[in-house]
Amino acid sequence: MSQPSLMTIPGQVDPVPVARDITPRADGRVDLIGLPRPRIRELFEQAGLDARQAKLRAKQVFHWLYHRGVTEFEAMTDIAKTMRPWLAERFVIGRPDVVEAQHSSDGTRKWLLRTGDGHDFEMVFIPDETRGTLCISSQVGCTLNCTFCHTGTMRLVRNLTPGEIVGQVMLARDALGEWPRGTMAGLDAVEDDRGHYTADGRLLTNIVLMGMGEPLYNFDHVRDALHLIMDGDGLGLSKRRITLSTSGVIPMMERCGEEIGVNLAVSLHAVRKEVRDEIVPLNRKYGIEELLAACADYPGASNARRITFEYVMLRDKNDSDEDARELVRLLRKYDLPAKVNLIPFNPWPGAGYECSSPERIQAFSDIVFEGGISAPVRTPRGRDIDAACGQLRTAAEKKSRAQRDREARESEATAAPFA
Ligand code: SAH
Ligand code: SF4
Repeated sequence: MSQPSLMTIPGQVDPVPVARDITPRADGRVDLIGLPRPRIRELFEQAGLDARQAKLRAKQVFHWLYHRGVTEFEAMTDIAKTMRPWLAERFVIGRPDVVEAQHSSDGTRKWLLRTGDGHDFEMVFIPDETRGTLCISSQVGCTLNCTFCHTGTMRLVRNLTPGEIVGQVMLARDALGEWPRGTMAGLDAVEDDRGHYTADGRLLTNIVLMGMGEPLYNFDHVRDALHLIMDGDGLGLSKRRITLSTSGVIPMMERCGEEIGVNLAVSLHAVRKEVRDEIVPLNRKYGIEELLAACADYPGASNARRITFEYVMLRDKNDSDEDARELVRLLRKYDLPAKVNLIPFNPWPGAGYECSSPERIQAFSDIVFEGGISAPVRTPRGRDIDAACGQLRTAAEKKSRAQRDREARESEATAAPFA
């Protein structure tokens, strides 16, 4: 057996096996999902196409994969009929496997997904009046052990590959029936009565990296996946509609702004050292003031593009009036273009915390708001399906295979209005 390549991830972790951009498959074919255009072109050349052909085919295939969402080479109608089996013999168009799909009474949808090598991770879709937000994972598990987070109790299994990250968005578009049917000028022979796709009326409008894992500990794969998601000829989502959430990996924040350029959310959760040291242990390495200074330097942050500070409300832990005043003082001190997201703690079995009372959360919000900073309270969504970070996996582990299959079928049926 070959040794997996090892990469050291900064922080309090041991080296973990990291998949490279191409994960070899048992049948020798290469999964194209997650690869950028130049890489696809390179593979086509290696497989025997001449440079001109490889360039043209890579452009066409890229468009079909990421913009149109096709899952079979046979559907690539502007590629010669004889060429399609040639592609199918050498390449595949992957999607993560769906282990379980749940649909909440409030419209929230949640998927338990599985990698090719059998690791489970999750994704949640949360629609509201003005937008539809897909919450995606960046790792299976997490190294960072935040005490209120269920993912934190799991060992880091491995980083997700670019294909597994972008594959989540593609799967959501599959499930929501949202692939555009627009034409590709000069290359596409298909008649299309709907014409070019626009963002109007689309359900999936925003993406947040707030699922399992710490995205800045899987920087390269997250960056490569987000480039495919933002590519105008790829998934075509604006960077203004994508938010990356970090627990405060300071050394990677500047690169995140420069090389990815998406909105930043920071999981602050506490304003006193002893409390943040406990609930976000990374604080022992990168402290609060240092973190806020890095936020002040975040490339692209402005009053129009504010940094979101996430603050999970834990009873008698971080929710006093004094904490709220200290939060205002700190955000003002660093002159941060900030908004605060107050998140009611979502309990899980064995968690050593309780959620603050609604009155306490409101009082906290009022103080921050009076300090001139917007501090909405996030409404819990999908509570009937445990749609919070790291919770589906445990629930699913307790279910039998038959029960899961039945629920998946039922969920498919309820999903019909979206199709
Ligand atoms: N690792 C990154 C991104 C994933 S966690 C980070 O920590 O920012 C994203 C968010 O999930 C965290 O900000 C945290 O607020 C939220 N979260 C985790 N467990 C939660 C729980 N039990 N209740 C409410 N929010 C939770
Ligand atoms: Fe990891 Fe984020 Fe959970 Fe902390 S809150 S354990 S960083 S996923």
